[in-house]
Amino acid sequence: MSFRESAADMRDELVRLRRSLHREPELGLDLPRTQEKVLEAISGLPLEVRLGERLSSVTAVLRGALPGPTVLLRGDMDALPVSERPGAGGVTASRFEGRMHACGHDLHTTMLAGAAHLLSAGRDRLAGNVVFMFQPGEEGHDGAKLMIEEGTLDAAGERPVAAYALHVTSAMLPQGTFLTKGGPMMSAIDELTVTVRGAGGHGSTPHRAKDPVPAACEMVLALQSMVTRSFDVFDPVVVTVGSFHAGTVSNVIPEEARFAVTIRSFSPSARERLQERTVTLVRGIAAAHGLDVEADYQGIYPVTVNDAGEACFVAETVREVYGEQRFRQAANPFTGSEDFSYVCDQIPSVFVALGACPADRDPERAAYNHAPDAEFDDAVLPDGAALYAELAARRLAGATV
Ligand SMILES: [Zn+2]
Ligand SMILES: [Zn+2]
Repeated sequence: MSFRESAADMRDELVRLRRSLHREPELGLDLPRTQEKVLEAISGLPLEVRLGERLSSVTAVLRGALPGPTVLLRGDMDALPVSERPGAGGVTASRFEGRMHACGHDLHTTMLAGAAHLLSAGRDRLAGNVVFMFQPGEEGHDGAKLMIEEGTLDAAGERPVAAYALHVTSAMLPQGTFLTKGGPMMSAIDELTVTVRGAGGHGSTPHRAKDPVPAACEMVLALQSMVTRSFDVFDPVVVTVGSFHAGTVSNVIPEEARFAVTIRSFSPSARERLQERTVTLVRGIAAAHGLDVEADYQGIYPVTVNDAGEACFVAETVREVYGEQRFRQAANPFTGSEDFSYVCDQIPSVFVALGACPADRDPERAAYNHAPDAEFDDAVLPDGAALYAELAARRLAGATV
């Protein structure tokens, strides 16, 4: 029986696990209930299981009966601080107000547990080891980095030759379609927080104060000009000032103005220049106005770069297992960001998107990941689990890369 057929037979268990995770979403690095459910789901399988120390991760190693290298499969497990829209979704809604699996990580956790079952059942034919990386804290908590620091990449005693991650989308892709590309797949994300300090005063006599507001406004506009004047249009960057705060009432000049910027880029060189350019620019404008400025630039996640050869292997595998029409080559990277990028930095990896939009919705109009009414269809669970298993087994068997 193929992985695809075996996974279809596991459908009910997969749906049960996914809905149980969906009902009890947990945030950040500490996901005790989720960890418990994963352990229960993979109990009885011939796996070497190790739990995280600084986070509630689960690293499981399956050793195949035949000799061979190691591959890694990653599924993230954390939810988001989003209130699920009442009545949204055909599945059982979140029991916790203000928490929701709005990015579909409950599906990834389930599909990875499913793959552990499929590959364990096929252990006799498995030529090497598989590391299952059940990861908390993807949504901005550095979970992948912490797991790497705790040794997940070397859990089998050697570095994996390849790593794969699946990510569902509730919109944009038709249900069941897999999408990826070689090269940059997701942007790097950084954050700049700027505090401009002057001297407060009466709104009627600005010359007696040091008004930080016009200077901060100038900085916001100059950052936009910088994008078009200092960066190659074919190596794009996104700079968005998402928050801007200053003052209280119209006739008081405040002492400080503060704004925060999200910054996305797709190459290490653009990312490096962004830090230098943005900080130099705000300092220069502050100096020109005789104001002090504090520019705090924080790197969050690097660019997620798919290995070109591995991406071709994924495309071939999807086409062979599910047919030509189920694969789409991504024209461009996503401007979202991922901490799977830390795995990509060390191992030839591929991040693959899987359309999970409910079949009765138009993917172009459906609510996207992170929205309170984002909906992910259970129907994709067996095929997602089977693809994880196919990628691992075929890669170990030496399928062409
Ligand atoms: Zn997300
Ligand atoms: Zn996500």
